Amino acid sequence: MFVEFVARGEKPKSMYDTVIAGAGPVGLLLACELAMRERSVLVLEKSVEADSPLKRMPFGLRGLNAPSVESLDTRGLLDEFEVTKRVKNPHAGMPQGAKRPIGHFAGIPIEQGLVDSSQWKYRLESSAPPIMLTEMAEVEQILARRAEELGVEILRGVDMTGYAWGNDHVLVECGERHFRGRWLVGCDGARSVVRKQGGFAFEGTEPEFTGYSLSVELHGAEALKPGRVMTTRGMYLQSQPGYMVLQDFDGGAFHASGRPITREHVQEVLRRISESEVTVTAVLAATTWTDRARQATSYRKGNVLLAGDAAHIHAPLGGQGLNLGLGDAMNLGWKLAAVIAGEAEESLLDSYEAERIPVGISVLDWSRAQVAMMKPTPEARAQHAIMRDMMETRDGATYVAGRVWGVTTRYEVGDAHPLVGMSAPNFAFDDGATMATLLRDGRGVLLDFAGDDAVRATAEEFALPYARRVAKDSLGLGAVLVRPDGIVAWVAESDVPLRRVLERWFARKVAA
Ligand SMILES: Cc1cc2nc3c(=O)[nH]c(=O)nc-3n(C[C@H](O)[C@H](O)[C@H](O)COP(=O)(O)OP(=O)(O)OC[C@H]3O[C@@H](n4cnc5c(N)ncnc54)[C@H](O)[C@@H]3O)c2cc1C
Repeated sequence: MFVEFVARGEKPKSMYDTVIAGAGPVGLLLACELAMRERSVLVLEKSVEADSPLKRMPFGLRGLNAPSVESLDTRGLLDEFEVTKRVKNPHAGMPQGAKRPIGHFAGIPIEQGLVDSSQWKYRLESSAPPIMLTEMAEVEQILARRAEELGVEILRGVDMTGYAWGNDHVLVECGERHFRGRWLVGCDGARSVVRKQGGFAFEGTEPEFTGYSLSVELHGAEALKPGRVMTTRGMYLQSQPGYMVLQDFDGGAFHASGRPITREHVQEVLRRISESEVTVTAVLAATTWTDRARQATSYRKGNVLLAGDAAHIHAPLGGQGLNLGLGDAMNLGWKLAAVIAGEAEESLLDSYEAERIPVGISVLDWSRAQVAMMKPTPEARAQHAIMRDMMETRDGATYVAGRVWGVTTRYEVGDAHPLVGMSAPNFAFDDGATMATLLRDGRGVLLDFAGDDAVRATAEEFALPYARRVAKDSLGLGAVLVRPDGIVAWVAESDVPLRRVLERWFARKVAA
């Protein structure tokens, strides 16, 4: 649905390579990825203030998984994260040692001592941690600082209200103000204006419950059990004194009603779910959410793209949404930068959808499977009991941890070698460098362990960064091509020739 571009109102002063709607974590990471490749980026953010209590602990607590932690590591940002250094376990009263829960599926804890990481053949000792706790405010602050250092313009208090597509650019409207970009990326969250105005289909399933994140004062709190407690009415979790999460299986009705979250209402829901006489004496802060699960059926229409919650929404069970969105930004960033620079054909962007939509489907289904097992019905309880038995086995716990931590995520890129399409192992080299440090400049690398002249010549021919290194453990590989987003594109042991991979990378036929 392209419309002929008609300039309206005030004439924009300049043209940006990319305008990004939304300075959430996804918009900011994407801005960094584009700006580090010298693309001009404008980020429009409707909130005036960058910080808010909801972005701070406990409401703003977020778990980053392996792909997110690795991405931050490859960009040299990991050391700036402080919350992880002081908060090791956010849930008070949880078991420690081998029984320490390091995530959950449908409220069933994953016990640390059962996870057999030796099953993840490509994770090396030098790998970044597979999980890290942070706050929304911290992620956004670090990414905003980096973005501004890289020359990104972030305009706060600017609400994007609409846009008009032209053949070679997009006119973005923010009330009376207008901005132009060759590309527009909607990182404007679950209620995305970019998605709605662009007519992107957003398909999926309706909610089963209203979720509550609450800061409350309680009388008689000792009646509540520690941990995530499933009852015949729903689920409650008191993770720290006074901080509660509830799931009330009302079909999402309360969240949709827009009614205020009063003390009386919270007490009624908590008493009903916990089957106790606990009294709520004050509600200090409260927010609701649901398990509505929807995904855009395409992430691109011409020069308009979607990423993050704008492209997919689901329940925050097991904390996946931010990770999914950061993965979108990493995947899209280098591709869009290469297209803007004329280094690759526009069709390279087809691989953004081809790679990220299946990851989104898998995360939405992971969320739906949990909701199905958490419902207060006899059938769900029966499935839940079986799942609990399986998660008490080594293989069961390892499988679930692999999915939650994202260490088994792999793009299907048409190569049978199991490493191709996965995050590159964080090889440690004899000179003290690591794979993460080789990826700092966001250009990818052709890493040669064997000193193969043909590999070196191909790198020179395509102006690919080349590194001849000795790794402490090269996992028996001769050479590895790693994309700018840290994904392995080819290994010397691949069944696909290097040139065919480069054809995909540059999205054009390369000389034989
Ligand atoms: C209770 C809860 C717990 C969660 N826990 C986790 C977790 O542990 N791990 C995890 O991975 N995920 C978690 N999530 C999900 C995660 O917070 C989101 O998936 C993530 O914030 C999405 O980032 P985003 O940048 O796409 O969108 P957002 O964070 O929603 O940012 C969108 C930005 O766009 C701005 N915006 C919106 N409309 C406009 C407009 N018209 N013009 C300009 N700007 C606009 C907004 O103000 C906002 O700043 C949780 C979510 C909830 C609700």
